[in-house]
Amino acid sequence: MTIATIARIETWAYRVPLSQTVETSFGIMRDRPAVFVRIEDDQGVFGWGEIFANWPAAGAEHRARLVLEDIAQLLLGENARRPEAAFQELTRKTHIRALQCGEFGPFAQAIAGIDGALWDLCARAEGKSLRGFLNDNAPDIIPAYASGIDCRKEEAVVDAARHDGHVAFKLKVGFDDQDADHVARHAAGLGPGETLYLDANQAWSADLASEFLTDIEGIPVGWLEEPIPADAPEQSWLDLRERSKILLAGGENIVGLDAFRSAIQSGIFGFIQPDVAKWGGVSGCCRVGQMTVAAGLTYCPHFLGGGIGLLASANLLAAVGGGGRLEVDINSNKLRDAFSIPSLQNGMMALSTAPGLGVETLPEAIDRYKTFHSEVSV
Ligand SMILES: [Mg+2]
Repeated sequence: MTIATIARIETWAYRVPLSQTVETSFGIMRDRPAVFVRIEDDQGVFGWGEIFANWPAAGAEHRARLVLEDIAQLLLGENARRPEAAFQELTRKTHIRALQCGEFGPFAQAIAGIDGALWDLCARAEGKSLRGFLNDNAPDIIPAYASGIDCRKEEAVVDAARHDGHVAFKLKVGFDDQDADHVARHAAGLGPGETLYLDANQAWSADLASEFLTDIEGIPVGWLEEPIPADAPEQSWLDLRERSKILLAGGENIVGLDAFRSAIQSGIFGFIQPDVAKWGGVSGCCRVGQMTVAAGLTYCPHFLGGGIGLLASANLLAAVGGGGRLEVDINSNKLRDAFSIPSLQNGMMALSTAPGLGVETLPEAIDRYKTFHSEVSV
């Protein structure tokens, strides 16, 4: 049998201006960017991946070019059906270049998107959904939760998410000393069977995080995500874990299999949240998810970007299992919604059974937001 080889790599960057900005404790998103990558082999089979581009604000076009100008030549002509080997090779071969420019994040993110595209390609070649390709027994229906809710907003925002079929809601906190009051207000509005999660986006010192935990004592909270910086001393994280019954969550800012393994073994976290577009792609995040579940913790993919990455996260969660929920951003994002993302019912999302991620072409509706498109081929 002939080996299918990588024949063509294309990237796109997009930006959609926002009428309502999206605020986190560390910055304001004034537009919604996304970077998509398409890889095609010499037999005409193709796959789609997404590369993290939310931060820095100017990063999307840089990453789209990085794939074509620094990485593509390492891929063209290589075996298209061995994504995990390609992930290892690319990580190894770009290491010195990433060291030289100090841009470990952009390289890791570009490789994550490439990895996702190769897995999609392989699943499509077999005529299977990505989750079915990863795991024959993967379910078609997964639990999800509403994310990206600014705690300062009115209860109407949670109501709208509830109306869209959500039963679990994640509030962004870490803004000011009113955070706990806002959390109490939203908690009081929850119905039976509904869950509240909190995400501080690394806003606090250990002392401020501890104060916050005191302030919300008695309020039922499913998890507290990144109360302190991901690189804070392990002892600070362990102290917070000891300090409260509320389980801690993190992972979107952890890079590398070894770092995830230590996080899983540390006893700090109840929930591990790798991002398929930031580090690891499908290869790395699937392994992290499996290690998480094997250790008795819950795998919940982090994702706050466009449609391709969300569909990859959904398929990963279905393939890995373990009862975690898919992160679904409730803020307006045309670069996500144009991809016909399945709606929710009673907190559950029914996924498409089409091959791969179920994406054939980029939706025409997003064309006017394109800021970069180019390709390289053999
Ligand atoms: Mg987060």
